[in-house]
Parts: sequence; C-alpha cells; structure tokens
Amino acid sequence: MIQVSVLGIPHDQNSSYLRGSAEAPPLIRRELYSDAYNSWTETGIDLSAGRFRDCGDVAFEGSSDDWQTIEDRVGVEIENGSPLICLGGDHAITHPVLRAFHQRFGDITIVHIDAHPDLYDSYQDNRRSHASPFARIMEERLASRLIQIGLRTINDHQREQFGRFGVEPHEARHWRDGISLAISTPVYVSMDIDALDPAFAPGVAHREPGGLTTRQVIDLIQSISQPVVGADVVEYNPRCDVAGMTATVAAKIVKELAGMMVLNAVAAPSLA
Ligand code: MN
Ligand code: MN
Repeated sequence: MIQVSVLGIPHDQNSSYLRGSAEAPPLIRRELYSDAYNSWTETGIDLSAGRFRDCGDVAFEGSSDDWQTIEDRVGVEIENGSPLICLGGDHAITHPVLRAFHQRFGDITIVHIDAHPDLYDSYQDNRRSHASPFARIMEERLASRLIQIGLRTINDHQREQFGRFGVEPHEARHWRDGISLAISTPVYVSMDIDALDPAFAPGVAHREPGGLTTRQVIDLIQSISQPVVGADVVEYNPRCDVAGMTATVAAKIVKELAGMMVLNAVAAPSLA
C-alpha cells in the first residue's frame, strides 16, 4: 500500500509579525484523525488503516542549526520514497525542506499557493524570514519551476524578483478555475493557509482579504496530474483562529493532498 508520511515542523522563529504557527501541528492532526469525519478523500482514497505514516515532529532542542536539522530529518523521512506532507510552522521552513527534496528527486515543480510571493531578498534584515524562502529556493536552483497562485500583496521589489527568478505568478485578481499549469515534472505543493480568504481561514498572522475559496484550493490540488512527491501546509496560527475553524480547513487540505499523492503515485509506480 502506498503510504503518506506526515511530519510536524513546529518552528516559527522567522515570522516577521506574530509567533504562534509552531503550535499548529497537533491541532491539524487532531482534526485529521478526528472521528467527526470519515476517512475518505473526495477523490475516493481511504486514508484509514495505516495509510498515514506519522513521523511525529522535528525536535529543535539542542539543535545548533535548525535549518540543517530540518533538512536532515526530511531527508531521512523521504528516503523510502513515500510522499511526505510537512505541517508548519511558518513558511520559512520550506527552504530547508526543499533542499532535502531536491537532493532526493532533482527536477521538481513547486506549486506555491499563497497571498504573498515570499520572495524578499531579505526582510527585517533576516534572509531566513518567512517572507523570503522562495528567494533562497530559486537562488539555490532547488526547483525547475515556481508557480505561485493566489497572490495579492505584490510590490515593486517582488515584481523584480519574478523576473530575476523566472517565477510564474498567478495573481488572485486574475485566477480563474480550470487554468492549466501544464506541469511535466514531479510536484511539490507549498500551501500557505493565508492564500485562502480570511472568511474561510481566519487563523493566520497576516489576514489578506480577497483570497481564494476553500473549494478553489481543493479543485486546484485535485487538478494536478503529475506525481505529488511532497507538500507543506504552513502559516496556520492557532492564536489568531476563530473556534478552530482554520484547523479544520488545514486538515481538509492535508486530506486532499494525501489523496492526490496516492492517486498519482498509483499512476507512476516508480515513485511509489
Ligand atoms: Mn502568506
Ligand atoms: Mn507564505
């Protein structure tokens, strides 16, 4: 059976405004494994009975370099070829996670769903800021394509970075359901919860109105036809949430990502 690995990365030290996203993994897991819902994805995959291989959380106590700790741990967890979903944490973690994925899989297309491009060369004098991971990822050529969807906070600097790194931006104001992304490599999905409109997911540090619906994000995930080798769901901040509703949305997205990982791995057994 194709398993999907899940790894918590409770790290929010590079958030520019509010801490709290490090508290997200256990709350997403509680919803993911809750008896309130059945275990099937919309796409017909049963996630019960050992489908998830839960790796627990990355431990940072005693770590001298948190980035190396994340990269090493992700490298271990993807060695067996099972797809991996990382639960953040803030978006800064995606840089060391991608280092490990690049090492294991080489050519990868990143589908990055976010209100923000996260391409600042540096933010508040921090090159590891959660506003900068994709600048680092593209400098180090860890992805062959970076497709960004849901953007609605672009400034001149970030627009320059699009050109510098060959980013393919899809602004929220232009996004239409069914746009083809024509992906031809394995895919890594980086899901920043603030891509969603705050009406659907208020539990984020940077609420940006005018976002995607939960339905649009799920449809987008279900439209991917290439193998999904990895994903992260980041920036859920329980301290900003309303009645736990954002945890439910994050868990739903994890479920549908896992479903596509299983479905598309069946179609590409070499990656299973
Ligand atoms: Mn964001
Ligand atoms: Mn982000």
